[in-house]
Amino acid sequence: MRSTKCDIWYNIYMATKNKLTSYYKKRDFKKTTEPRGKVEKKTSKSPIFVIQKHQARNLHYDFRLEINGVLVSWAVPKGLSTDPSVKRLAIQTEDHPLDYIDFEGVIPEGEYGAGTVLVWDTGSYHNLRAHKGKDSQSMENALEDGLIEVWLEGEKLKGGYALKRTEGGKKPRWLVIKMDDEEADARRRPTSTQPRSVKSGRELDEIVDEDTSQDE
Ligand code: MN
Repeated sequence: MRSTKCDIWYNIYMATKNKLTSYYKKRDFKKTTEPRGKVEKKTSKSPIFVIQKHQARNLHYDFRLEINGVLVSWAVPKGLSTDPSVKRLAIQTEDHPLDYIDFEGVIPEGEYGAGTVLVWDTGSYHNLRAHKGKDSQSMENALEDGLIEVWLEGEKLKGGYALKRTEGGKKPRWLVIKMDDEEADARRRPTSTQPRSVKSGRELDEIVDEDTSQDE
């Protein structure tokens, strides 16, 4: 059978359908120990979030929310604040597989995102836009719409956070802002006072030492 225009469009559709295509493309799984996950069918009762502190070329915090079987991700250079008067830049990056939630370790030199990753905070979250009568929005719609409001139940971060898209394009830019609720606290500086992993209790340099000595 000769391939028709329809087949070509179908192939393009299939290639873009997998939300993780761009995640796979950027990585060589023979070299990196990052998970080679897939888009999960399951929808967990309460969706999860993770914030990974990532010492790459520049230090940043990767904020990820489980939405429809993947972790929708943003790189937040300064991390999330607990002060509602602070707006933090968040650059949307490629969706990650759900398995990434636990990932902590060293991404080898020469690989995409080379550097050290630490699970800075994690927990469940819920969608604050879900129960607003006729204005209710699913997470997927809120993402599309460019306004996300979530309640985080982390160890370090709790309460409402709003994400607002300010620029579209290939790497959409958003602002992440603490909502003014009972968990807001203008005096806390969790990124500096609570630097350790909630998974292993380690700091970045301890992860480097341990992961590198294992390889020898
Ligand atoms: Mn990163």
